[in-house]
Amino acid sequence: MNAPIYPKIAVIGCGLIGASVILAARAAGAVSQVAVADLSAHVRERVQALGFADVVTADAAEACQNADLVIFAVPVMAMAEAARACAPGLKPGATVSDVGSVKSAVSEALAKALPESCFIIPGHPIAGTEQSGPDAGFAELFHHRWVILTPQQRTDAPYLAATERLTDFWTALKSNVELMDERHHDLVLAVTSHLPHLIAYNIVGTAADLEGVTRGEVMKYSAGGFRDFTRIAASDPTMWRDVFLANKDAVLEVLGRFTEDLQALSRAIRWAEGDKLFELFTRTREIRRGIIAAGQESAAPNFGRDQRVSVEGPDTKSQ
Ligand code: NAP
Repeated sequence: MNAPIYPKIAVIGCGLIGASVILAARAAGAVSQVAVADLSAHVRERVQALGFADVVTADAAEACQNADLVIFAVPVMAMAEAARACAPGLKPGATVSDVGSVKSAVSEALAKALPESCFIIPGHPIAGTEQSGPDAGFAELFHHRWVILTPQQRTDAPYLAATERLTDFWTALKSNVELMDERHHDLVLAVTSHLPHLIAYNIVGTAADLEGVTRGEVMKYSAGGFRDFTRIAASDPTMWRDVFLANKDAVLEVLGRFTEDLQALSRAIRWAEGDKLFELFTRTREIRRGIIAAGQESAAPNFGRDQRVSVEGPDTKSQ
């Protein structure tokens, strides 16, 4: 067996994504020792019971002692607090990354809270489910999914080597890695993930409030497209509140464009412009076919578990 890429990792926040990173890293032999810090006593109990961590603590600085890689897997708005808590425990030369769904705000928070002696390389695996907590984690979550790293504007050799090592880590977990500017990441994800979630939350809310349609009818006839939206709209409220607050500018930008396009559709329906509708629906069908051709239609192909679908991928039936 090859030497582990990182002898020790610390995962701060051990929900769905934190647990999946650990399980995937263990399965790949990419780590030897794992420390977990989580503020929730219930989560710590579950992580102990699941047995995938060597150290489980509420003290983030303690978890980071001697860690070669620290990954923050807490909700986006909790990243700053988690980073401040870790700072005293970090060893010089440690790589610090995260899995947050928004990159500009997180990158800034990490840079502010952490010492210059560590290598900050923010990241985002475009994979997930609508489940939360460590019990929902699974080792195959990142297989064939993209992980976007948004390195700082540094060109010194140690930083580049740290970025390469983190790329090797995610590659060992069977992910495809892409490096991207953080602002571009936030715009791309606003379109492919954040806006679809906003639409899902909105449509499920609208249906629930609609007079003249009973709750029973909403459930009974949900197969008519609505069911897929309800699954997305079941995604974690804390996580998604934080995503919209932290990626406000990019989300509002794409929402403005979306609203204009929706108005155009509304006009086409009102004036019976069938050719316009037909042309759009033909184009969108091609996009769906392209996603399938790229192998990105589900997060975990062949696992046969319906909930194990991407909630952050380009497939808007999920995240
Ligand atoms: P999750 O299942 O809710 O887990 C987050 C964990 O972090 C919870 O146990 C939470 O405890 C804990 N926590 C919160 N603040 C903390 C702090 N300051 N220090 C230590 N632990 C803390 O969330 P998740 O779905 O794994 O998401 C984690 C991150 O991954 C988020 O930033 C999200 O944007 C990103 N992400 C999620 C997905 C997805 O599909 N879910 C996909 C890609 C990326 P409490 O429950 O007590 O607050």
